[in-house]
Amino acid sequence: MNKIIPVNASVTLFQAKSSLLNATVVENNDSLLVIDTLLLPKDSKELYEFCLTKNKPVKYIINTHWHSDHCYGNRFFDHFNPIIIAHKLFWNTIEKEKNIIAPEKANIINKKHLRLPHITFSKDLELPEFNLVITHAPGHSDDSTRIYSQLYDIYWTGDNVLNSNDNRIAIPYFYWGNPQELLSELRSLAKKKPNIIIPGHGLPCDYHKLDRDVSYLENLLLSFSKLSSSCSNQKLPSLIECYPTQENDSFWVEKMHSLNLERLGGSSFSAPALLS
Ligand SMILES: [Zn+2]
Repeated sequence: MNKIIPVNASVTLFQAKSSLLNATVVENNDSLLVIDTLLLPKDSKELYEFCLTKNKPVKYIINTHWHSDHCYGNRFFDHFNPIIIAHKLFWNTIEKEKNIIAPEKANIINKKHLRLPHITFSKDLELPEFNLVITHAPGHSDDSTRIYSQLYDIYWTGDNVLNSNDNRIAIPYFYWGNPQELLSELRSLAKKKPNIIIPGHGLPCDYHKLDRDVSYLENLLLSFSKLSSSCSNQKLPSLIECYPTQENDSFWVEKMHSLNLERLGGSSFSAPALLS
């Protein structure tokens, strides 16, 4: 059963129990727009059924990026014949994907179940009917996308921002993307001081979360640049050293931190032959 969280009269957040994965339904006078479509069939079906109760067609689906947990449910909306929008690099993500959080596992994607975008973009794309601006914001993945509602002053970040549901931490995660790009995106979003951010996973948050995430990435990258320039046997930076709060026993955090280290080349630093 998805958690249904009204953000305002026209914006409803759907949150799956599994990994606190988010999808959003945005309503205008005569149609609906869905941002991300969840992963598990029963969750996506519930999202679809919620849309049916509105008696308006789903005109658009926007996928914040092409990790399967954000786009695999597109197929449940075939009945509406929606226009699917994604960044032009979407294939870079879906092709690389094995399993989002357990890369050692086999690919869980059945490509027959994918519904590919009808519109791809590279520069900003505006959807005036919904007062939305869609922007390429790489970081978590090559094709990550930021969506801004001018009408409601809401930002959707996809997985560039991850949150928990209990005020514990969820850290920026770039195993599939690029840490410098993620840092630059989070810094530029933080400057806007957004009050409502709908993350890829977890409850909505505000810019204070961005400030903490920026600190994590800055600390992590700084530690790595010191390691890279040093010949001594230093240990890899721990999560606690990087994130500005101690409450870390939540939401894949340790696993994501170690995958971030791996993406940065952490495994090579821990190999004795390279440390001599
Ligand atoms: Zn993702």
